[in-house]
Amino acid sequence: MNDQLERCGHCRYYQPLEAQGGQCHRYPPMFAGDASPREAHHWRFPVVGSHAWCGEFSPAQTA
Ligand code: SF4
Repeated sequence: MNDQLERCGHCRYYQPLEAQGGQCHRYPPMFAGDASPREAHHWRFPVVGSHAWCGEFSPAQTA
């Protein structure tokens, strides 16, 4: 699974936020703590680097 193409940046579940990082949308948002008084801040998609990877990788669709 260490092929350069099988990275978050090439995964269908990756949502880029910046040049080298983004969010993984493979699963619903996860509880991220209740330190903030705003409920919307309690649930987050995991933040991942574009060069990271995991066993749930699925290639992004190409037109
Ligand atoms: S963490 Fe896994 S499922 Fe999520 S974007 Fe990266 S490779 Fe894809």
